[in-house]
Amino acid sequence: MKAARLNEVGSDFVIEDIPTPEPGPGEVLIRIGGSGACHSDLHVKSGEIPGVAFPHTLGHENAGWIESFGPGAEGNGFEVGDAVVVFGGWGCGHCRFCLGGKEQLCNTFLWGGMGPEGGYAEYMVVPSVRHLLRADGLDPVEAAALTDAALTPYSAVKKALPHLVPGTSAVLIGAGGLGQYGVQFLKLLSPAKVIVVDTDEKKRQTARELGADVTVDPRDADAAEQIRTAAGQDGVAAVLDFVGIDTTMALGAGAVDRLGIFVLVGLAGGSFPFSFFRFAAEAVMMTSNWGTRNELEEVLALARSGRLVSAIERHPLSEINEVFEHLATGQIPGRAVLVP
Ligand code: NAD
Ligand code: ZN
Ligand code: ZN
Repeated sequence: MKAARLNEVGSDFVIEDIPTPEPGPGEVLIRIGGSGACHSDLHVKSGEIPGVAFPHTLGHENAGWIESFGPGAEGNGFEVGDAVVVFGGWGCGHCRFCLGGKEQLCNTFLWGGMGPEGGYAEYMVVPSVRHLLRADGLDPVEAAALTDAALTPYSAVKKALPHLVPGTSAVLIGAGGLGQYGVQFLKLLSPAKVIVVDTDEKKRQTARELGADVTVDPRDADAAEQIRTAAGQDGVAAVLDFVGIDTTMALGAGAVDRLGIFVLVGLAGGSFPFSFFRFAAEAVMMTSNWGTRNELEEVLALARSGRLVSAIERHPLSEINEVFEHLATGQIPGRAVLVP
């Protein structure tokens, strides 16, 4: 099969012919319909997320069709040819995180595409049918992006929802692949005013089209003041940071009001000096790491209901280097999905 291999940090992807994997006991072979190009893979490629063993096939946002079952994997209600969406936060299945339904918190290097080989290829092996959800009418190319670009902000927004009482505002920083779904979940699920911060005017325009009430350019000298004014007296009850550099964290954490929440999603490695006097009284600061299988089912249900707008660009897998170049330079309007 063809696979886009990354042989070392900093190198380009190389399309190689490698043996099509054989599903082992309990495993399922998936023919990839689409694999989303996530900014996290850009962090891996540039060495900002260490720990991936090279050479490796990245790609953790996947959907496609069941190609074959390994020994013992049949008979679980799925048939060869079924269109499926792959939940990618694979874990050991036995620890308290997995048993508690938060399998994505088990071990990052058990995730498909981070430890095991991912979906920038014609086929990938999924270790268990429990990671498969029925596409049920969804196009695999769009559904691929739902498994992370939509699932991650969905999980982050759900963490913020209890804080977003009527009258409050939510600030979302970084309206790219993830953030554009985040804006929609905030508008669909909360009564809050939605303030979107992005350096790119095209992304701010998209955010307004998706329902953002106010947009702010963080490079404006009075950006913090613009947020305060837009939020009014009930204040900013939640900030979701989909960038995660020092300056976005300072702007976001500085905007959170008392009893609010700051949710860090972006993996750029920035930090904010948490101290009693730097952060609002009794506000919460937390990270949000991907989402659960149940949350993915909820996202798929929303997509099937027609209430999610997906700005998907399809690219043949052979264009993977151009796609990552465009992602690095902010030229992907929403999500690019690689089609083998
Ligand atoms: P993306 O490149 O599609 O979008 C990034 C957006 O941020 C763009 O709209 C860009 O214009 C904007 N931006 C860049 N610098 C900015 C700044 N200084 N201020 C405001 N906006 C700025 O990326 P993506 O695929 O949406 O991923 C976003 C981040 O989320 C990445 O760091 C990625 O690794 C991370 N991520 C985290 C998880 C998780 O589970 N925590 C899951 C997936 C992705
Ligand atoms: Zn991702
Ligand atoms: Zn586990």
